[in-house]
Amino acid sequence: MSPGVLDRADGFERVVYATDAAAGLRSIVAIHSTRLGPALGGCRIRAYASEDEALTDVLRLAEAMTWKAAAAGLDLGGGKAVVIADPQRDKTEALLRAFGRVIDSLGGRFITSVDVGSSVADLDVMSRETRWVVGLSPFNGGSGDPSPATARGVLGAIRACLQHRWRDVSLDGRKVAVQGAGKVGFHLCVSLAQQGAEVVVADPNADALGALAAEVNVRTVDPDAIVGVDCDIFAPCALGGVLDAETIPHISAPIVCGSANNQLASTQDAKRIADAGILYAPDFIVNAGGLISVVDELDGWNADRVFARVDAIGRTLLDVLHLAAETDSTPHDAAVEFAKRRIRTLDALNP
Ligand code: NAD
Repeated sequence: MSPGVLDRADGFERVVYATDAAAGLRSIVAIHSTRLGPALGGCRIRAYASEDEALTDVLRLAEAMTWKAAAAGLDLGGGKAVVIADPQRDKTEALLRAFGRVIDSLGGRFITSVDVGSSVADLDVMSRETRWVVGLSPFNGGSGDPSPATARGVLGAIRACLQHRWRDVSLDGRKVAVQGAGKVGFHLCVSLAQQGAEVVVADPNADALGALAAEVNVRTVDPDAIVGVDCDIFAPCALGGVLDAETIPHISAPIVCGSANNQLASTQDAKRIADAGILYAPDFIVNAGGLISVVDELDGWNADRVFARVDAIGRTLLDVLHLAAETDSTPHDAAVEFAKRRIRTLDALNP
């Protein structure tokens, strides 16, 4: 293995580039901040076109994890890992174990979990080389799929948006358009329908829609039509970058609140969506339930503790929206400031 530290990362505590030629491993671990605790971030396995592209991605994602963990009130910092490999073709036991050894060499300063391209089964393999992996399968001592916790947090956030906008948290009769009926979207749609909401959902995967229809009564629309559905709440639960100059003018919902990561295509879109009169709930506040759930494994996963923390997401979102109004900033900027304030406060207490 040949680990190296990169120099092109201002504001980061450490960026490690690690390879293992025998295992075919090329990886980068970015530790943005350990000010509040060990840096936690998923392991993204992707066939990046270049190392530069991988580096740009890992730096952006690692910083976002710092704000997500801090705003969620966790004693955790932010980091991320990328493995430059095709998840369909290149994922071998040797590669995953080599990456596990990279994590282990960081001595607990960085903890990884699942992300795009990696699975719970992959984490189980990594965990044979290191204990600094969370989100393991239940038979391996983990808490399993965090999506129900994520969906519960999204539901709480939607109620907070309803409270903020209309001073009425009831979902009864509210119309919600959900983009994506995957792991989070499924649980969210079920809860929404059970609480009286009218659910409209889109997903190109017919099996996902079928599983949902077997559970609750929902209306489906074409994926191209979901953004423009006339509704109270638009909940992106599929892809990143869904809010941009092209889509925002077509959103008729006065509230956007969903689980998808990086919903804003660019920083200008935070202002663009606010100017369109739409209340945008910052994604990293809304979708923290998964992080809250997986990190709890370090203390022996406890459902009461996890759900208490997840249920605080709505309150946090209201505080963020209040800060946005007070500082005349967008909810996204206010959410980052909210996270930074927590770090600054703790810095002042423990200089
Ligand atoms: P998933 O892969 O299980 O589900 C995504 C679904 O979106 C799939 O069913 C897919 O077919 C569908 N989809 C793809 N393109 C679509 C389109 N154009 N229109 C409508 N649907 C489309 O993923 P997931 O775990 O449910 O996560 C959903 C989002 O939430 C992702 O952005 C993820 O990063 C984020 N997130 C998930 C968790 C979690 O606990 N799973 C936690 C935090 C954030």
